[in-house]
Amino acid sequence: MLRAVTPTAGVVLAPNPGPMTLDGTNTWVLRAPGAEGCVVIDPGPLLEDHLQEVAALGPVDAVLLTHGHYDHSEGAARFAELTGAPVRALDPAHRRGDEGLGEGDVVVGGGLELRVWATPGHSSDSLSFVLDDAVLTGDTILGRGTTVVAHPDGVLGDYLDSLRRLRELGELTVLPGHGPELPSAGVVAEQYLLHRESRLDQVRAALAAGDETPRQVVERVYADVDEGLWFAAEMSVRAQLLYLQGAG
Ligand SMILES: [Zn+2]
Repeated sequence: MLRAVTPTAGVVLAPNPGPMTLDGTNTWVLRAPGAEGCVVIDPGPLLEDHLQEVAALGPVDAVLLTHGHYDHSEGAARFAELTGAPVRALDPAHRRGDEGLGEGDVVVGGGLELRVWATPGHSSDSLSFVLDDAVLTGDTILGRGTTVVAHPDGVLGDYLDSLRRLRELGELTVLPGHGPELPSAGVVAEQYLLHRESRLDQVRAALAAGDETPRQVVERVYADVDEGLWFAAEMSVRAQLLYLQGAG
């Protein structure tokens, strides 16, 4: 079911809930009032009913991927078959059609213009799409909790730079890849930056206390996090250790 979120953006929630995907992947459908076509962001996992439901909202002018993680991209090829629309992504492996996608591009579709920002950090290929009143952040900013810097592809220094850039968007609504929309990109990006700073302080303290391996740091710093998510925490800790060594 399409849920209208802003005057130009609606979301269809994919039925793939989980600890890393929260309620499931958000497939965003963008369309200016009166426009015939739409732009679809992140078709989501390869779940036929979900893809059919979104395709029925077409015609689809273009499909854009925020990044290549499978919960966002796995259904893209099938969705392109269903709609005939090209799939554009930073990573060539995920494209269907001739057109790439990257920093500075302006995508026209659905009666809208989307400005493309490279926002690496969660993954090296993460993009954000900026509209007049909202920004689509993929997994760079989530609707709840915080995201993972997916070492070794994700790099913490890049991620902090991306958050500082998104912070400049002020009052724009955040339309995330998972979880609910948030009212202010500036506020939430600042919260993410503060969270990262406090985690870095905790990691520094863990090292000072004698922890040597990423796993030891996880057990101390992420003691408040469900153990089932420690594999993800360990990716973030490895990214933080590189950052503290001045290497990432
Ligand atoms: Zn992701």
